[in-house]
Amino acid sequence: MTLENYIRDIQGFPKEGILFKDITPLLNDANATKECVKILVNGLEGKQIDKVIGVESRGFLFGMLLAQELNAGFIPVRKPNKLPYETISASYDLEYGSDTLEIHVDAIQKGDRILIHDDVLATGGTAKAVCELVERLGGEIVQLNFLMELTFLNGREKIKEYPIFSAIKY
Ligand code: AMP
Repeated sequence: MTLENYIRDIQGFPKEGILFKDITPLLNDANATKECVKILVNGLEGKQIDKVIGVESRGFLFGMLLAQELNAGFIPVRKPNKLPYETISASYDLEYGSDTLEIHVDAIQKGDRILIHDDVLATGGTAKAVCELVERLGGEIVQLNFLMELTFLNGREKIKEYPIFSAIKY
């Protein structure tokens, strides 16, 4: 099975100049979704995981499936003011302005082995902010995995101190 066949390119979404990688055809197919989970789990090479982080919002989809498959807990990292309990936050720069992500203060116990998941690694700003949150709470980052990596944006460079796995590279 070729996972690429289940990713749809949408030119100019959500704004001009962006080639959006739409994963809804993948989600729409049970076998392709299962295969994708299998590929991401294989990419871990048997490393033990206590908690999987999914990054709002598309990171929640496979993040939760991965957590179940790995027998690990799931942690949502969300945009500001979405999480109800006490949070810490990390900000990162965008092309114009900045953005912020939050995590519950009690989501990670010191020494927890963490897998960070998101759908796309683009410039790496999002992933780097999530790494900062995990380390501030005392978690150990075992790997970051992505359905897709846009290699021409060099996002890897921002998170090069951590192991990275991506199911598809463009
Ligand atoms: P970045 O912080 O630049 O690595 O961007 C990563 C975040 O933006 C991820 O949460 C992705 O869901 C989203 N993203 C960035 N570029 C794309 C793209 N071309 N298609 C779909 N999602 C994207």
